[in-house]
Amino acid sequence: MNKIKKIYCRTFQTGLKIALPFLPYRKPNIAGSVRSIPDIIRKRKCGHALIITDEGIRRLGLTRRLENVLSQNGITYCIYDKTVANPTTANVAEALELYLSNHCDVIIGFGGGSSMDCAKAVGARAAKPKQSLAKMKGILKVRKRLPLLIAIPTTAGTGSETTLAAVITDAETRHKYAINDFPLIPRYAVLDPKVTLSLPPSVTATTGMDALTHAIEAYIGRSTTFGTRKDALLAVRLIFENIDKAYTDGSNIEARRNMLHASFYAGCAFSKSYVGYVHAVAHSLGGEYNIPHGLANAILLPFVLEAYGACIHKKLHRLSIAAGISAEDTPHDVAAREFIDAVKAMKKRFDIGDTIKEITETDIPKLSHYADKEANPLYPVPLLMDAGELEQFYTALMEPVSDI
Ligand SMILES: [Zn+2]
Repeated sequence: MNKIKKIYCRTFQTGLKIALPFLPYRKPNIAGSVRSIPDIIRKRKCGHALIITDEGIRRLGLTRRLENVLSQNGITYCIYDKTVANPTTANVAEALELYLSNHCDVIIGFGGGSSMDCAKAVGARAAKPKQSLAKMKGILKVRKRLPLLIAIPTTAGTGSETTLAAVITDAETRHKYAINDFPLIPRYAVLDPKVTLSLPPSVTATTGMDALTHAIEAYIGRSTTFGTRKDALLAVRLIFENIDKAYTDGSNIEARRNMLHASFYAGCAFSKSYVGYVHAVAHSLGGEYNIPHGLANAILLPFVLEAYGACIHKKLHRLSIAAGISAEDTPHDVAAREFIDAVKAMKKRFDIGDTIKEITETDIPKLSHYADKEANPLYPVPLLMDAGELEQFYTALMEPVSDI
């Protein structure tokens, strides 16, 4: 990256970092089971819930425990279960219609990132009925308190239960955009391991490695705070201690609970301290080839960590100690190597490869341009790279066999 762009990026990031303590970030309150939801609702003097989920989750019967507990406690509810993988403005409009016609006063997002994002957008529309979602695109356009919003993640990965963002796709134009504002942060995150028990091992692995990527990218970036570093280290420790247990024995409640907590703390870390080039490149691959987000991150993570080089060795050493891999007195470069090797070994155990066969040579300039646009100047990455330099990652993933 040329010097002028570098100065521009770093100045932009420093401005954001200075503003950080003055912004109204908050962490959702944690509840450990769907059984605690009636109390939360009653405490807020509410009584009519809209559950937003998707058909797959409904079919698996995952919402049933929640439905029973609401009925038993005299809380009426209705369910919107048509949320699609990239939730659309049509999803939001339909769910909002249900919310209004049933006089609801609570929104419960139940599912992966899509259902939670849809729930946030419905909350924003309920708070501002006269403003379209398109008008809320960008940052700080909601500016109004949402109805009580409760998030119940069914994967331990996205961290969407902690973030201020909702990504919505326009149903007509297919334009995908993010709404970012503090009122979108859910009031409660219900980290109930029982709703994650039916996740297949491959999804447990890739969503868990998404959470790992959130924690690592937040930690090695240049906009960390004492709190986000602490959250990231805790998430990394919990992931290394539990991901294999959850992968090999999906019914291990303790491991599932710890993975949900890891995902939550990783979400808190990256909400304030951002992600980095792993995410920027992964998003471009998701948009172009529909590569699942967690999978793309898992494939890319060691490549990007290696490309950052010596400037992150000290930080990787701290992460490696948290992960239980390296000792305090290990030299930084050795510990960094041990940590990256441990990430590679984790990928291997989960059968995650090093290539993405969909990538074609001709797509690379366009994809790296997207990644550059997303990351620069926003992400406070440890080492700046422009579109030309980011091309190395796509090229590396194209090679049939790679030992990087
Ligand atoms: Zn992610």
